[in-house]
Amino acid sequence: MSTQPPWLDPIRQRLVRRGRDGRLPSGILVNGSPGVGKALLTTSVVQSLLCQRVDGDEPACGECNACRSLEGGVHPEVRLLEPAEPGKDILVDAVRDATEFLTLSGSGGALRALIIRPADALNVNAANALLKTLEEPPAGAVVFLESARPASLPATIRSRCQQTDIASPTLGEVHEWLASESDQPERVAEAYAASLGRPLLAREILTDAAALEAWEADRQILTAVLNATDLHSTAAVLQRSVPERLIPRLQALLLSAQRLLLVGQLDAFGEQFPRDQLLNFARTRGARRLAWLVQQSLEWQRQNGANLNPALRSEAIALALGRR
Ligand SMILES: [Zn+2]
Repeated sequence: MSTQPPWLDPIRQRLVRRGRDGRLPSGILVNGSPGVGKALLTTSVVQSLLCQRVDGDEPACGECNACRSLEGGVHPEVRLLEPAEPGKDILVDAVRDATEFLTLSGSGGALRALIIRPADALNVNAANALLKTLEEPPAGAVVFLESARPASLPATIRSRCQQTDIASPTLGEVHEWLASESDQPERVAEAYAASLGRPLLAREILTDAAALEAWEADRQILTAVLNATDLHSTAAVLQRSVPERLIPRLQALLLSAQRLLLVGQLDAFGEQFPRDQLLNFARTRGARRLAWLVQQSLEWQRQNGANLNPALRSEAIALALGRR
């Protein structure tokens, strides 16, 4: 059975105790890097407070009616606000609808929660529509805002929220937790490297066959990129993955190649590839080209979600990666 990452426990307990005392602020900005457990934290705090069987700061039972309806996404006192599509904005109408939900009189429970996931997706109008609720919250209403980039949020929102930071766990803490979650502890380091430092994604790679297959496919594609000799085969191979998944891994590979060339050492991601092939790729490009490619990869990431022609896009990336 899966357990929560231990680095979330003290934060969850503190928030739950405050909730039991009726001292939760109306806005809680949950900050933390991608995959560290922001969604798990907010969900488990809300669930503990609404669970019908626990009354201390322990985790929710997971079995009562409240827990079941929350896990099914149909709890009447909880609303989740997400973009209509991943990567898109949360729009003002959706915020108005959600804040109205907070004002409706509920079943008399102590908590009515709105979870905004991620808060970075609020556009300017949507953020403004939320301000009044944060300033004058209806009784029992709490808005949880999850963000990996809190500095990008409007100052008006940040100043009206209490900040809760999930500090990034140490490598040792992550490995220990992943090993306890997996029946293949020997693959923990690989999964964490493949996740690009996102503990929850690493757990998925260790425990979910589809996520593991996706990583293994990406590793094959990236290995083919290292060894490709012509533009068209590189472009074709790049198209076998999903850019949202592959481009960040391609960037990690470029950084590994750069590090190997300059420092002579493999990082955790680079260790997932044959050293001689990575070194050959790095040497045939050289330090200046690699630095330029790393910069380019940031641009390729920005293009994710920009509806570009996949074939043209792959050719442009392949052209940049190729030998000169
Ligand atoms: Zn319960």
